[in-house]
Amino acid sequence: MQLSRRAFLGAARTPRGNPVRPPWALPEDVFQALCTRCGDCLDVCPTHLLVKGSGGFPLADFTPGQAPAGCTFCAACVQVCTPQALKPIPAQPPWMHKAVIGAGCLAAANVVCRTCGERCAVSAIRFPPRLGGVALAQLDAALCNGCGACLADCPTLAITLQTIAQAGTT
Ligand code: SF4
Ligand code: SF4
Ligand code: SF4
Repeated sequence: MQLSRRAFLGAARTPRGNPVRPPWALPEDVFQALCTRCGDCLDVCPTHLLVKGSGGFPLADFTPGQAPAGCTFCAACVQVCTPQALKPIPAQPPWMHKAVIGAGCLAAANVVCRTCGERCAVSAIRFPPRLGGVALAQLDAALCNGCGACLADCPTLAITLQTIAQAGTT
């Protein structure tokens, strides 16, 4: 199946391997066994982050322009998922991925840009002052919840999502 440019851009900025399922999705094999592909989670998502992916299974689409607010963790998708393919697990975050700021960041090229920091509702991206250059973006992986809001407006598409095991503080 040929990917559209939109789907390609979205996929290229998310963790390799399995697509990013809706938040609170159970492990991929269990998720696929339970999900009926009804599409109810897509219909109720207020930010339009969820789209129909391969095989009709829902996935989160972080393509710029799709869902500028990312995920607000409203849990509307969980509430309508009657087979409980989406199911909160105590002490486990809704998503096992976090944002990572890559080499394309404008601040790293000495260009003033704080767009991602302005989008982050939990202040996971800060710009501490730096002598002799523009402030560099610093991402606190402990604060990042993987909502994706910072991806949408980065002018150089420098931010990607990585699984928690691979993510670190940049
Ligand atoms: S938690 Fe809310 S915003 Fe996030 S994917 Fe589910 S319905 Fe959409
Ligand atoms: S509501 Fe649940 S069963 Fe329906 S498509 Fe979404 S994840 Fe699958
Ligand atoms: S993905 Fe992380 S860093 Fe980006 S806006 Fe969401 S919480 Fe903030």
